[in-house]
Amino acid sequence: MKREITIVGAGLVGALLGALLAQRGFAVTLFERRPDPRKAGFLGGRSINLALAERGWHGLRLAGLAETLQPLAVMMRGRMVHAPDGSTNLQRYGRDDSEVIWSINRGRLNMTLLDAAESAGARIHFDQRLADVDWNSSTLHLADESGATRMHESTTIIGADGAGSALRAAMAQTLDLGERFEPLDHSYKELEIPPVEGRFAMEPNALHIWPRGNYMCIALPNAESSFTVTLFLPNHGDPSFDTIDSVAAARALFERDFADAVPLIPDLEHDFMHNPTGMLGTLYLQRWHLHGRALLVGDAAHAIVPFHGQGMNCGFEDAVELADLFAAGASDTGGIFAEFERRRRPNAEAIAAMALENYVEMRDSVADPAFLLRRELGRVLAARNPDRFVPRYSMVTFTRMPYAEAFARGAAQERVLRALTAGRQRIDEIDLAAADARVRAELEPLGS
Ligand SMILES: Cc1cc2nc3c(=O)[nH]c(=O)nc-3n(C[C@H](O)[C@H](O)[C@H](O)COP(=O)(O)OP(=O)(O)OC[C@H]3O[C@@H](n4cnc5c(N)ncnc54)[C@H](O)[C@@H]3O)c2cc1C
Repeated sequence: MKREITIVGAGLVGALLGALLAQRGFAVTLFERRPDPRKAGFLGGRSINLALAERGWHGLRLAGLAETLQPLAVMMRGRMVHAPDGSTNLQRYGRDDSEVIWSINRGRLNMTLLDAAESAGARIHFDQRLADVDWNSSTLHLADESGATRMHESTTIIGADGAGSALRAAMAQTLDLGERFEPLDHSYKELEIPPVEGRFAMEPNALHIWPRGNYMCIALPNAESSFTVTLFLPNHGDPSFDTIDSVAAARALFERDFADAVPLIPDLEHDFMHNPTGMLGTLYLQRWHLHGRALLVGDAAHAIVPFHGQGMNCGFEDAVELADLFAAGASDTGGIFAEFERRRRPNAEAIAAMALENYVEMRDSVADPAFLLRRELGRVLAARNPDRFVPRYSMVTFTRMPYAEAFARGAAQERVLRALTAGRQRIDEIDLAAADARVRAELEPLGS
């Protein structure tokens, strides 16, 4: 008989996990709070598009979906930085077009994953919200839109129900998970740059950034030749979501700080007033599982701020790791869950920290000469010492090196870069032979 696994939440991570487990021969049942997006249309709630990197592609490749999804994704070669005077400058992410990220529509990706899970044999029940769990009888209590309830018994329950996880709340009633949520004091608002005569209004193959110190706008391309713009702004202070509270204030902010974008956003006022303001934060848990009964994955276990574009990518790594652990055949579910947490939690904590750091980098440092000099030197040292020095962004984005290792290596590299650039303005003021010697003395070889 097939081993039964129940997943709560058929968002990005739940649907991929469902597909991977069903493809490996498990009897998978998914319960999703929303209606089927393939029939009802996708009800977003979070960002419209997302940056997909190597870790995410890896999971999609394993599920056999890379070829289907590749044509739907738009390549982003680097950050197109928009200065206040309207000038632009492309800062490449990697060495060449083999080191890029991809913008993909959340709804399309989710629907493709649902198709994959179903065609592998998973059963998905939509409009079924987890309301409660009776742990004595291992029974899920689910409610539909009308309030009608249904019961489902399962001894193996995985919570992929996002940052506000209902399964997490049910687990916390019986075991202290050591939960801590740290809200970011900045929130976000999405706006749209539509196509102009059917074409992209700006360079399509870039992630556009308007860094403005304590706040910023970004824009990611969509396959339909539009861009989704996201304004990140403090909640309080000036300017903030407190002060930019009217159509006139929004327009004035954009005309002052993002002037080159204003003509491209025809519905600025409408989008600003009608689109919701999204909250951001980091979720830390000391424990992800309830003995052998229930386990949290994806945002339900480790929601992070979006500034490294890695939340989904990290969740897809969870899905691969968990499917592999189940497929290895151990019958002890408690052991599988504990091993999953042992492997993944340090990595989730590392990407949470790097995502917070990246916010400062994106909104501030990309316009800072000292940061740019360190970055330039980092590239030079990486080219001269590829066995020891890889820019941290590259380790996170273009490799599947565990996040915790990328974090530790990145910190050691940053110490070297700061020491070598102290008091220098230009790269030709730095003795590169001495810099190489320092790299060899202070940085471990990769893979050691
Ligand atoms: C503004 C923004 C930009 C982002 N950009 C990126 C990016 O560029 N790259 C990247 O990798 N990540 C990005 N992320 C992070 C990414 O969105 C999340 O990490 C990802 O969506 C997590 O997937 P998930 O399946 O764990 O959770 P979710 O996507 O939240 O899915 C949870 C699912 O569970 C369902 N559900 C919830 N409660 C219940 C319930 N009680 N019963 C049943 N079902 C339930 C929901 O309806 C949903 O379908 C971004 C996030 C934000 C907010």
